[in-house]
Amino acid sequence: MKREQVDVLVIGAGPAGTVAASLVNKSGFNVKIVEKLLFPRFVIGESLLPRCMEALDEAGFMEAVKAQGYQQKFGAKFVKDGKVCDFNFSENFTDGYTWTWQVPRSDFDTVLSNEVQKMGVPVEFETGVTAIQFNGTNSVTTVVDAQGNEKEIAARYIIDASGYGRVIPRLFNLDKPSNLPPRKTLFAHMRDPNRLQYHEPNRITIVLHRRDVWIWIIPFSTGITSVGFVGNASFFESFEGNPEEKLRAIIATEPELKDRFNNAEFIFEPKTLEGWSMSTETFFGDGFVLTGNVTEFLDPVFSSGVTLATVSSQIAAKLVVRELNGEKIN
Ligand SMILES: Cc1cc2nc3c(=O)[nH]c(=O)nc-3n(C[C@H](O)[C@H](O)[C@H](O)COP(=O)(O)OP(=O)(O)OC[C@H]3O[C@@H](n4cnc5c(N)ncnc54)[C@H](O)[C@@H]3O)c2cc1C
Repeated sequence: MKREQVDVLVIGAGPAGTVAASLVNKSGFNVKIVEKLLFPRFVIGESLLPRCMEALDEAGFMEAVKAQGYQQKFGAKFVKDGKVCDFNFSENFTDGYTWTWQVPRSDFDTVLSNEVQKMGVPVEFETGVTAIQFNGTNSVTTVVDAQGNEKEIAARYIIDASGYGRVIPRLFNLDKPSNLPPRKTLFAHMRDPNRLQYHEPNRITIVLHRRDVWIWIIPFSTGITSVGFVGNASFFESFEGNPEEKLRAIIATEPELKDRFNNAEFIFEPKTLEGWSMSTETFFGDGFVLTGNVTEFLDPVFSSGVTLATVSSQIAAKLVVRELNGEKIN
């Protein structure tokens, strides 16, 4: 079987993978990303937090992202029974960015992966990891491409940024049930031409629909808005029909949404995700570290996923570089 050699193999080309790869590459080490899917690909997680801007900046992605003209985000608005609680990032306690973006992730992740390739990092799309063998800190990873061709990639270090793919936890039985209760979501992107009559587009709006069900409203600069309900599975079972009929029926019960999205055009059939919280026995081991969603993901109400992905990669990549330079990291 064909075998390649790299210093660092990054699994996954989401925000965690591309930030990690950029920082390792900047340090002069030879790094490659393998990504199971072809980009652009859909992933949820569209409302960022200001802290991720520092990671994007250090990774060298800021100018390219700015050039996309994404919807700027200055805070978060929480709505309950018509009462509004408005948080503005400019009222921060610490120094740092006071704004960020709301991004369609298929587009955003493609921008990051294009940038990292321009920096000289090869990204092999449609190439999934199927096996890893460790020998001390060195490893040999088997990958298979869309045509079914297998090859091996020998690496001194692996950064597993495979998100919901959870490559290393799955291959090495490290998965651990989360102590967060399982949740479900039903969501879609919708045309939202009258948005200015409702909530300001320059923040995420989170509506408490009922005690155990909340809604995200995330406007993009394209005139499309992302709307999703998050609740227990039993809440969604009480509505009839196909995903679009269900989502329309749920929207009709919510005063904050029903006029705005009544008859709105759906850009894609509403999607469902369920039970996304999973933890792992360890975040690192000999020759590997996990970053981003592989580690664990909190409830999406915090809009924290991309920020934890990019910042954990920012920290981990620097530690990997120090270890490759001969330092012992404990
Ligand atoms: C309902 C919901 C709402 C959310 N809302 C938000 C939000 O508003 N804001 C926010 O910041 N976050 C949000 N998130 C979280 C967000 O989806 C993730 O935290 C974020 O995408 C993590 O980025 P990542 O780079 O770790 O993983 P990903 O973006 O998932 O990237 C991982 C990549 O690894 C690839 N991969 C998987 N398996 C393999 C394999 N075997 N070989 C090679 N490649 C592989 C995948 O194809 C994927 O492209 C939400 C999550 C949920 C469930």
